[in-house]
Amino acid sequence: MTGKRQRVSLSLALVMKRFLGVVSLALISFIGFGQDFHCGAVEQLDHMEHLYPGYKQSVNDAYFKAVKEAKRRNQAHQKNQGAPIDTTYTVQVVFHVLYRTPDQNLADSHIIQQMEIINACFNRENADTINTREIFKPVAGNARIRFELASEDPQGNPTTGITHTATNAVTFNMGGTSLRDRVKSSDTEGVDAWDTDKYLNVWVCNLRSTTNRLSLFGYAYPPPDADFWGAQYFKAKELQGVVLHYEAVGPNNPANLSRESYTNEKTAVHEFGHYFGLRHTWGDGGFNGCIIDDFIDDTPISLRANAGCPLDRNSCSNDTFPDQIENYMDYSNADCSNMFTQDQVSVMRYNLLNLRKDLGEKEIEYEELPPTIIQNLYPNPFNAELKYQDDTLIEKWVTLELYNTLGQKVVETKRWKEGYNVTFDHLDVAQGYYRAMIKYEDEVYFETSVIRIQSN
Ligand SMILES: [Zn+2]
Repeated sequence: MTGKRQRVSLSLALVMKRFLGVVSLALISFIGFGQDFHCGAVEQLDHMEHLYPGYKQSVNDAYFKAVKEAKRRNQAHQKNQGAPIDTTYTVQVVFHVLYRTPDQNLADSHIIQQMEIINACFNRENADTINTREIFKPVAGNARIRFELASEDPQGNPTTGITHTATNAVTFNMGGTSLRDRVKSSDTEGVDAWDTDKYLNVWVCNLRSTTNRLSLFGYAYPPPDADFWGAQYFKAKELQGVVLHYEAVGPNNPANLSRESYTNEKTAVHEFGHYFGLRHTWGDGGFNGCIIDDFIDDTPISLRANAGCPLDRNSCSNDTFPDQIENYMDYSNADCSNMFTQDQVSVMRYNLLNLRKDLGEKEIEYEELPPTIIQNLYPNPFNAELKYQDDTLIEKWVTLELYNTLGQKVVETKRWKEGYNVTFDHLDVAQGYYRAMIKYEDEVYFETSVIRIQSN
């Protein structure tokens, strides 16, 4: 007999059902920040909504489409022998360094080191993946997107992929969100984007406040719905890209900001996540965070942004999982954040291929990934106990059924699954071969054969 495995993933509808109450994702305009620094992605959306009414709805539509499609693709992959076949994509990147003072003019070496960090984090090659807690390791994801500093500029000339430009702007964070995008135009002391369909533009500049306060580390716009590009509201193709505060760029930045408090070189990873359409893990819910989800199944619900590294925190009592402090899309400090989830990388890959589709070049097609190392029903052979593991953090009743070689059902037992694992103990059956089925609410999700060995 051969085993059959199907990935179990909640539909959007079920997720909504699960968090009954307010489920208004709707790009909430209020955000409560529990710390002194933040990413400005969400407030920039509000700004764009003000300029182009309908913009946020478009971003929302695109997000839901991406999440839904990513889940469908995941399920399809899992049915296909349980080993996803996938492709690595490369994206050309240009960094524009804007400086008024010498310390703002970061050396190319810092940019190159920053690129190495981004590549490691997007390909799950960073050494600190060992710090991902066991409970989250099964859902850690590899985006398989690689970033290269451009070697050719839009005119076809050789380039390092890094530009350095002097500016008279004291800061690009004058207080209003409307003023920040000045960094993206040479008419306003900034630098014009290179063709944003072909390059991921990163602007590095001073984002301290006019009173020199360190509060904003970066921002990026998510991809608007492709259909929306032709609409009258929003044609700001030249604004697509990532903006980073210069003191948070590179692992060896001269500013030497506290690694206990700040996101430092992981800021770029976070903003790249936004650029490919990811939301914050806490769902930007302000004070209602526990009923506002990011609609990613494998990031547990959390009340608000977490800063520092509070690994013991579970901020919402309506789930039993700790906050996913390790996630790049939280505000956890540089040494603490070390993962995207599988559903997050599915969303980013979907957006790369559909909403930023001229950007990704195929690098390795059909790269075979190693087959899953998790044996879903184990040990096999078993004695009086079988454990089952799935790849979601969803709590539910799980039923085990065992059938003997005559096809007679000899065991039917139900257990409540709280983490990834559920244990079926006291299995009182004779030695021999059995067909095992795992069911969720009468649907078969896993089927295999197991052998009962010598009993105690
Ligand atoms: Zn953010």
